[in-house]
Amino acid sequence: NDTATRRRIQALDQDVVNKIAAGEIIVAPVNALKELMENSVDAGAASLEILVKDGGLKLLQVTDNGCGIEKEDLPILCERFTTSKLQKFEDLQTIATYGFRGEALASISHIAHLTVTTKTKDSSCAWRAVYEGGKLTPAKPGQSADPKPVAGRQGTQITVEDLFYTIPTRQRAFRSTSDEYSKIIDMVRRYAVHCPHVGFSCKKHGESSATIAIPAHTSRSDRIRRLYGGSVANGLTEFSTSDDQLGFKASGFATNANYSAKKTTFLLFINHRCVESFKIRKAIEQTYASFLPKNSHPFVYLSLEIDPRKVDVNVHPTKQEVHFLNEDETIQAVCEHLRSELAQVDASRTFLTQT
Ligand code: ADP
Ligand code: MG
Repeated sequence: NDTATRRRIQALDQDVVNKIAAGEIIVAPVNALKELMENSVDAGAASLEILVKDGGLKLLQVTDNGCGIEKEDLPILCERFTTSKLQKFEDLQTIATYGFRGEALASISHIAHLTVTTKTKDSSCAWRAVYEGGKLTPAKPGQSADPKPVAGRQGTQITVEDLFYTIPTRQRAFRSTSDEYSKIIDMVRRYAVHCPHVGFSCKKHGESSATIAIPAHTSRSDRIRRLYGGSVANGLTEFSTSDDQLGFKASGFATNANYSAKKTTFLLFINHRCVESFKIRKAIEQTYASFLPKNSHPFVYLSLEIDPRKVDVNVHPTKQEVHFLNEDETIQAVCEHLRSELAQVDASRTFLTQT
């Protein structure tokens, strides 16, 4: 047949390339939400309000009170690889912000309807821009694509509608919107624990009360109590340790032997980015094995700060995984410290029950 005999190599349409790339970065609504939350935190926001409809597939909206975006930047905001955070490749080594590739908004604009309303401190009004496929587009047919002046407070509101409408197979793959909402809530809780001085709220569209509501001035242990419950909060031990030679700082909260759950809850942040690490999770579970009865598991929130020059954040499109130098030694040192903290609590508990 024709296609078998004429196997010529052709460049893909730019539009196809963009959709493929976007589908790798944004796999589910929660990936889009994570990017939006990180952008808001990068923008110095002290409050993040999140609104979700149909598990984020119909609507995902994040409203922040951060620095806002200059009107002049709006035309290129959603082009691929436009960012205010990275200039040279070497900057990747010292990157302190969450974002750096300028890909998130571009990706979202290729697979969803994206509306941005934003106001900087010095602007006299807010500006609203609508995007399609990386470019400004009219809000309604026949209108101009230019950003429109609207009333608004300082900060940025990003509205993502009809996620994956350009990738129907992906859209159909989501069976349960409540599963997607659970993933969203899980991610918001993680950032709400990690980001001090930032208030978070997350609401399902059409419901009167928020699922999550954490005022900005809430201590970390109170955040854990409100988000993960009293039984977690009552058994918490705060820890912190560091090692200059290995080049890391670690801090967090972990439940002691008084607490046990059916499953481990592990909140891991590496250089303020929420990530997964099977290796670290396993090491922590092993650490607890000597303190907890069989089949009971801890809650651990761990924030690891590693010299940015030793971390490779760019190993995965969703930035879910990171690798760093001295990984094994660092994990061992953190777990050793955790073990000694837990042993102390355990000893005092035994002491208390004996008297
Ligand atoms: P990155 O975060 O990697 O730079 P993004 O596509 O996520 O790429 O965002 C592009 C740029 O848009 C950012 O560099 C930032 O300047 C701006 N931006 C995005 N979201 C916000 C926000 N909530 N507040 C202020 N600026 C924002
Ligand atoms: Mg970003």
